[in-house]
Amino acid sequence: MKKLTILFLFLLFLGCATTGPGGKKSLILISSNEEVSIGEQMAAQVEKEEKVLGDTLVQQYVNNIGHKIAGISDRKELPYNFKVLESDQINAFACPGGYIYVYSGLLKIVEDEAELAGVLSHEISHVVARHGIKRLQQVLGLQVLLSIALGSSSETNKQVISTGIGLVLQGYSRDNEYEADQYGTYYLMEAGYNPAGMRNLLNKFDQLSSKEPSFFEKLVATHPPMKERVAKVETQISGYGKPAETLPYKKSEYDNIKSRLK
Ligand SMILES: [Zn+2]
Repeated sequence: MKKLTILFLFLLFLGCATTGPGGKKSLILISSNEEVSIGEQMAAQVEKEEKVLGDTLVQQYVNNIGHKIAGISDRKELPYNFKVLESDQINAFACPGGYIYVYSGLLKIVEDEAELAGVLSHEISHVVARHGIKRLQQVLGLQVLLSIALGSSSETNKQVISTGIGLVLQGYSRDNEYEADQYGTYYLMEAGYNPAGMRNLLNKFDQLSSKEPSFFEKLVATHPPMKERVAKVETQISGYGKPAETLPYKKSEYDNIKSRLK
């Protein structure tokens, strides 16, 4: 009986400590600190395997936009980190705890700051809603995650971290993607960008998906069709009315940065 009470209080504590987009509560057995520790180790592995772009001006620019959005999100207390990886892949992904990566290939197809902010805002929303850590918990199991959180550098843990990176690169379920689009669009506007940047970005992905079947978060069969995502975002934006329409896209700022990418 006593044990059960303790377990209940433990669950209650974790449940209360967890916030999703819009202040939604959800139960997860990994604390924020553990999540950050897991994300940090995944990020270290990503940066061993991939090349971080050497241009500090581009890195700072992306990092500043990311922090602007993260700062108004529902999990602003995380130690967010935004980096550009040098690769022609049209991709972006988020490790748990706020370690977010964008490939330079994606930066090359983006046309203004609002669209780039849309990419970051979508990834931030995955972190805020804890989609990544929940998926890891589902696939790898709680015990394995807790052992990684403790920082053990065993061979098994290294393999599990690589598996985790593969999982976050794949993207998420339909509902998770809709949620990341929805909150991403809202955060985009709250950070002062025209929320239509998200619609324009998704439209671009829609056009590209006919030519290149696997790119953004490795679009797979379980992902919602891009046309439906565009339509949902469109409805959401029209609900914001006139004030949102006057918000900027910041094209000239982005052109300066884009011209630096080879
Ligand atoms: Zn996504």
